[in-house]
Parts: sequence; C-alpha cells; structure tokens
Amino acid sequence: MLNRNIETFIGCDNEYEESGIVIFGAPFDSTTSFRPGTRFASKAMRGDSFGIETYSPYQDKDLEDIAIFDGGDLELSFGNTERALGQIEEFTAKVLSDGKIPCMIGGEHLVTLGTMRAVAKHYPDVHVIQFDAHADLREDYLGESLSHATVIHRVWDLLGDNRIYQFGIRSGDRSEFQWGKDRVFTNKFNFNGLTDVIDKLKGKPVYLTIDLDVLDPSVFPGTGTPEAGGVSFMELLQAILQVSELNIIGCDVNELSPPYDQSGVSTAVACKVLRELLLAISSKN
Ligand code: MN
Ligand code: MN
Repeated sequence: MLNRNIETFIGCDNEYEESGIVIFGAPFDSTTSFRPGTRFASKAMRGDSFGIETYSPYQDKDLEDIAIFDGGDLELSFGNTERALGQIEEFTAKVLSDGKIPCMIGGEHLVTLGTMRAVAKHYPDVHVIQFDAHADLREDYLGESLSHATVIHRVWDLLGDNRIYQFGIRSGDRSEFQWGKDRVFTNKFNFNGLTDVIDKLKGKPVYLTIDLDVLDPSVFPGTGTPEAGGVSFMELLQAILQVSELNIIGCDVNELSPPYDQSGVSTAVACKVLRELLLAISSKN
C-alpha cells in the first residue's frame, strides 16, 4: 500500500478523532536569552524518532498500541510573541474542548504560557508540575515580561499561590527564589519531595511541563542555557512515571536545541523522554 510521505513522531500516526493524545510542535524561540535554536526541535525529533523503538521495556507498553495524533508544527508568527502565544492557546483550547490531552513540543519554555492560558480556562483548578534547571520566576527579563526566563511567573499570574511545583531547580537569581518562597513550591536540585506532592495532588487536574535542561548537560548538552549539576535520564524517567499516576490533562517538553549537539544525542534523549511520557500518560485513557 502506498502512503503519503507525512512524517509524524514515531508510532503517532493515528487520526485525530480516534486519538486521546494530540502532540504538536511550537517552533518558537524569539525570546531565548542566550542561544536560540529550539525552533528546530520538533522537526528534529520527528526525524530522529525513527532511531528509537516504539516499545518501552521500562513500561512494557508500545506506542503502536495507543492512539496518538501528531498535528505537526503550528505556523507561529515570528517577531510577535503575543500573537504566537495566542496561536498556541487557540490550538490547545480546541484539543481540550475535544476531550483530548495536548502534548506540546517546544520551542523555548515561553510556549508553555500559550498552553497554560487555555488550560487554566478549561481547568480552573489545575496545578502545574515543572521539571527544570531554572526557576523561570523573573518578573521581567531585561524589561521584557514575556520570556523563557519569566514564563513560570506568568503562569503564576494565571493561577495564583500554591499551584506550582518545581523540581530540579538549580539556577535563578536571589530575588526569584525569594519571590517564589511563599508562592510556589520549589524543590532544588532533584526530585526529593515528589512523592509528597503527588499525594497532595491526587484527583486534581495537573499540567506537566518538562524543560529538558533539568537533565545534566552531560546527558543533554543540546540546549540554550545548559546548567551543570542536573539529574540523570533514569531519575527523570522515574519522576515522569511517578507523576503519571496523577490526572495529567496536558504536558509539554521544551528547550531542546538540536544545533548545539552535533552528535544528535540530545535529540535522541528528547525522543526517548517524549516516548516514555506519552506511554505513561496514556494509561489514563
Ligand atoms: Mn525553563
Ligand atoms: Mn531551563
């Protein structure tokens, strides 16, 4: 049989109507402070995903057995951050209103604000779990309020106190940590405390945002702002599996910047993280 040459993430070639999970790319990196390139992540991941298997020996599950739709990349307005965020919000709102789980491939971390604007409307009681090296809690970055360095502060603007749980954080300025102290839960350096948070969030709608720079740069050098002292792949996988016990209503992986890792290892790692994430949250469908 002949098929059109349409490249999806491996094993994610189902139709929209039949799928419980919808992946899509948000190739946006206009506010990246140090090294841009995340706009190439979703395309690189689709291509390189064929270098990994659809089957996960960790979970004994296979992408071939679950229905996932890959909507391709959004065509985002470059140079107009608000419009790009609006486009992401609109797409996410459609997916949510159809009763599906949006799973976005960034892009820089700011793209999460787009999905969260839709998610906060659809699930007013949503809680956010963030895996990241960086706090991303700045009020503004060089005078700009919309930035990958401010994104979680902007999410707090939507949700308010005690709705955001950060893990793996090992970078930020002092004022960010001080500001966050009574407003968000911050677990520095690792995933300690995740079990308690999961107990607390049982039954609530949860959005999971994974900034892949939470991984150590030795595992994942292909990112704009690498930060030494990160977690291992297995630690991240364990954390994803734990979080997947919750009611995950949306998720994203972001900050892969393929041009910074000519070996391609970072892209392969990102693909594996996404496969495990998809398989983990699919158990809820
Ligand atoms: Mn981030
Ligand atoms: Mn980060």
